[in-house]
Amino acid sequence: MAKIAFIGLGNMGGPMAANLIKAGHEVCVFDLVAEMVKALTDQGASSAGTASEAAVGKDFIISMLPAGKHVESVYLADDGILNVLDKNAVVIDSSTIDAATTQKVAAKATELGVKMMDCPVSGGVAAAKAGTLAFMCGGTEATFAEVKPILEAMGKNIFHAGDNGAGQIAKMCNNMLLSIHMIGTAEALQLGADNGLDPKVLSEIMLSSSGRNWSLEVYNPYPGVMENAPASNNYQPGFMVNLMCKDLGLAMEAADASDSSTPLGALAQSLYKAHAAEGNGKMDFSSILQWLKSK
Ligand code: NAD
Repeated sequence: MAKIAFIGLGNMGGPMAANLIKAGHEVCVFDLVAEMVKALTDQGASSAGTASEAAVGKDFIISMLPAGKHVESVYLADDGILNVLDKNAVVIDSSTIDAATTQKVAAKATELGVKMMDCPVSGGVAAAKAGTLAFMCGGTEATFAEVKPILEAMGKNIFHAGDNGAGQIAKMCNNMLLSIHMIGTAEALQLGADNGLDPKVLSEIMLSSSGRNWSLEVYNPYPGVMENAPASNNYQPGFMVNLMCKDLGLAMEAADASDSSTPLGALAQSLYKAHAAEGNGKMDFSSILQWLKSK
């Protein structure tokens, strides 16, 4: 079993660290918020006073932080993690951040002889708790072979997307597409309802027709159609509008940098931004249906 430091114990990191403990790994945790740390020490983790202290002497360092600036400071600051690691340590950053920051941290890690992989996830809090996340990994084949058994304690589908940064690119492409088919699904269901159709019946028809997609299949945005979907629970997240805005921002930055044409991604971003600007940032992203309905 491995010695693991886990940094960032929020909605996602907390249950991911708990699954590593359940799998029998020795886990040392750090978060800026004491109650997050306590939730994990209650489940058998040890804790440290700083991220770097947690990382000393560990085989794997896993981080699950809000954004690129947090990842950069935790690893690259003068007292950051990269300066305290053993040469055989492996860094796994599972935060969703821009590929450029990931590549910057990976370049410094390589310079210091440390291996790093970007391993962002898809699946949300429910999958983090159930240990069924999808991981999209960027780094060398050899590092992928080392991290895979560790990720298997937290996830079900584990992909090697390519070199450093490729995991983040895969994640932003996926979430851009998710935003587009969620908006499309919401529009179609509301159009049907406005024209007298029962959204449940319309959902069944489209699920057996060419409109079938993930939003319709497991995350129906129309209230009451799917018992366990956020739409049937006042759009409690789930996956927040604010996080979708963040991911679309990353996708649009990447599209600019690569001169890619993403008109639907840009439109989805403007709709989600407008939704968030009306005070709905903390609602589940499927609430875009309510916003469309209100226009
Ligand atoms: P969160 O805000 O719940 O948790 C982040 C945690 O990081 C907090 O506990 C915070 O205290 C801690 N933190 C911040 N700066 C820190 C630092 N310098 N040192 C130590 N701890 C620090 O966020 P989350 O929902 O767990 O998301 C984490 C990442 O996962 C984000 O990048 C997000 O985009 C991504 N993600 C989230 C979901 C989701 O459904 N919530 C799904 C997929 C991916």
